[in-house]
Amino acid sequence: MNTILEETKFIMNKYHIKANKSLGQNFLISEEVVQTIVESSEIKKEDLIIEIGPGLGTLTQFLLQEAGKVICIELDSKMNDILKDRFLLYKNFELMNQDVLKVDLKKLIAEEKEKNPAIKNIKIVANLPYYITTPIIMKLLEEELPLESITVMIQKEVADRLIAIPGEKETGAITYSVYYYAQSQDILEVPNHSFIPEPEVTSKVIKLNIRKTPIVEIEKKDKMFQIIKCAFMQRRKTLLNALVNTKIFENKEKGMQILEKLNIGLNVRPENLTLEDYAKISNFF
Ligand code: SAM
Repeated sequence: MNTILEETKFIMNKYHIKANKSLGQNFLISEEVVQTIVESSEIKKEDLIIEIGPGLGTLTQFLLQEAGKVICIELDSKMNDILKDRFLLYKNFELMNQDVLKVDLKKLIAEEKEKNPAIKNIKIVANLPYYITTPIIMKLLEEELPLESITVMIQKEVADRLIAIPGEKETGAITYSVYYYAQSQDILEVPNHSFIPEPEVTSKVIKLNIRKTPIVEIEKKDKMFQIIKCAFMQRRKTLLNALVNTKIFENKEKGMQILEKLNIGLNVRPENLTLEDYAKISNFF
């Protein structure tokens, strides 16, 4: 018997819950996938886990058993009563009824560490709402939070782009950002029937281990990411043309001079450059 499936159906019936598509609600019903997420998160008693979008609490119940503290951030207030009823007896459970994109996570983590000095590591674990996967991941990375790792289920297509090594077929502008901040792991591909309702896309669990030291020496990080973004706005063009068209290079001659100095071919495409190449270009500005 699949206990998670039975529990999910029971809770949805009891609280008259219909999955809200616009909030990306696809509830996990596979025991194997839940176990894999929990195991690959390598949770210890000195860990604070932040779970984004706990929904009915399927993953939460396993996180609560392993972690020192679990803070859940859930936008849908309908889930509040369910989660409070379900985890009433857990002293290490806390619920925030908020939009994760609006939460000051730096402050939340600092306050929690002050209250609870036993906390050593902070980890994100989530089955994310797919309609805002990218903004959530970018928020977690760009705010440079003191995180150890991010283990998330997201749509496979996005996952493949996030965890590619720059230069691989799936490379996009975001590949460079993730690569700069984290070392990634491809954990598990998850079929649609592991959820109710079934999403229209295949999913994947990935883990981002946050780098403790930067992978490239970079003086102007923001400039580098601006250049990468502009290059990929015109990814079918050569890097030179894309950066001239988006006004990063003043004109073609200036652009050619810079690329020649760096030994970067004039016909290369944006995805052929390494992160180091983009860092070097940004040092010219
Ligand atoms: N964790 C549950 C599971 O695995 O069954 C539910 C995952 S479901 C894919 C995504 C959850 O994120 C939903 O519960 C949804 O209400 C919640 N959510 C959607 N937008 C959110 C936001 N902006 N901030 C926090 N939670 C959000």
